[in-house]
Amino acid sequence: MRIFTAALATETNTFSPICIDRRAFEASLYASPGKHPETPTLCTAPITVGRRVAAEKGWILIEGTAAWADPAGLVNRRTYEDLRDEILDQLRAALPIDAVILGLHGAMVADGYEDTEGDLLQRVRELVGPEVLVCAELDPHSHLTNRRVAAADFFVFFKEFPHTDFVERAEDLWRVAVDTLEGRVTPVMSVFDCRMIDVFPTSREPMRSFVDRLMQIERHDADVLSLSVVHGFMAGDVTEMGTKMLVVTNGKAEKGKALARELGLELFSRRGTYRMPEIDAHQAVAQAIAAPSGPVVIADMWDNPGGGTAGDATVVLEELLARKATDTAVGTIWDPMAVQICMAAGEGAEIPLRFGAKSAPGTGRPIDGIVKVIKLVRNAEMRFGESIAPFGDAAHIRLRGIDIILNTTRAQSFDPSLFSAMDIDPGSKKILVVKSTNHFYASFSKIASEILYCSAGTPYPNDPAKTPYRRARRDIWPMIADPHGPDQGV
Ligand SMILES: [Zn+2]
Repeated sequence: MRIFTAALATETNTFSPICIDRRAFEASLYASPGKHPETPTLCTAPITVGRRVAAEKGWILIEGTAAWADPAGLVNRRTYEDLRDEILDQLRAALPIDAVILGLHGAMVADGYEDTEGDLLQRVRELVGPEVLVCAELDPHSHLTNRRVAAADFFVFFKEFPHTDFVERAEDLWRVAVDTLEGRVTPVMSVFDCRMIDVFPTSREPMRSFVDRLMQIERHDADVLSLSVVHGFMAGDVTEMGTKMLVVTNGKAEKGKALARELGLELFSRRGTYRMPEIDAHQAVAQAIAAPSGPVVIADMWDNPGGGTAGDATVVLEELLARKATDTAVGTIWDPMAVQICMAAGEGAEIPLRFGAKSAPGTGRPIDGIVKVIKLVRNAEMRFGESIAPFGDAAHIRLRGIDIILNTTRAQSFDPSLFSAMDIDPGSKKILVVKSTNHFYASFSKIASEILYCSAGTPYPNDPAKTPYRRARRDIWPMIADPHGPDQGV
């Protein structure tokens, strides 16, 4: 067997002011064919798992480009077209092949392309013809468009949020692909449109039990090859935005359709109950200061660079300063200009500095003060599960008893190693502030005395009922109360 694999991924918050071009991919991950590192990035596990499977099988794996940019705003048109065409040219040169196995995200929007993954998959299909297996692993924070379903044989999405399972799901993807190529199964996709948009953390109920049940069905029902909840991505203003239930069966389209509907309606029936309880900055800081022990982790959950925001909001920090909190560390505030100034000043210098809140309205005010530059690191990195996440040149500064990490490559706060990389001992602090909606949970819950989910300012469109969408459909919950009701003609 000859199998082609490649990855092209980012998550586009169409409301974000941080538009990106090729440099953003190069800053996060750009690997030319064969140059992908041994450890996978979020959306590139099909390549690393593929190397293992191909070696075991004695098959030929032809690697194309792997490119991943951290979530941001609109992707430059030329950047998308160049990366897409680079991969398509590699695929063309690799023909004839038996399968195309891709790592995608599913929520990339480029200037002029509302559905980049649909565009890429359709071009792949046109190139390889109807007989070649085309499949992909994707992030559930994505848009499952009709165009994508029509172009591919099957998809596997991560089940966990935080996405701790991207390697396991790549293994699922390859298992089904191998079974297909060896003639044991014929994957067929059935999709149910849940007509909703919500946030579904699997680190808590009721989503935890729902995902456990999906895995149980996968284990016990031989007709079911894979089940995925496509959460949808509410910050992507595209026409097919929304939550979908995907069932991949072994040639049982009718059974798949019924199961997708049953599971999708069950998911819908608990709408509005999945999110973590959110408190404002005032409450979060008061509660953290009053806590008997630390570290209390305050998640500045909606200023999450992992959701495409700048990650430079200062609302929580302003509150900490106002309350005279000490023994506190904030990681991170994105401000390349301030980092440049700190780098010029050098470690140990005390300087006047303005930083933060430059990207967008609703992110607070820039902070002014005399800061001490404690530690400077070029190309700083933190861990994220089995992979490494860069956060760029970074400065650890101290302002009125608060340690703050300023960074240049926007990155959400995945792991406490973010702090240790900057000479801050996270376990010894009373309060830690992180920029992450939920990915921080897997690692920070191990050291936290308490976790507070804080909704501070308005850096992210987190209330779909109020978000001024221009393209997304409005016939879904919570824009309307009951889209599956009798008048809606499901
Ligand atoms: Zn995601």
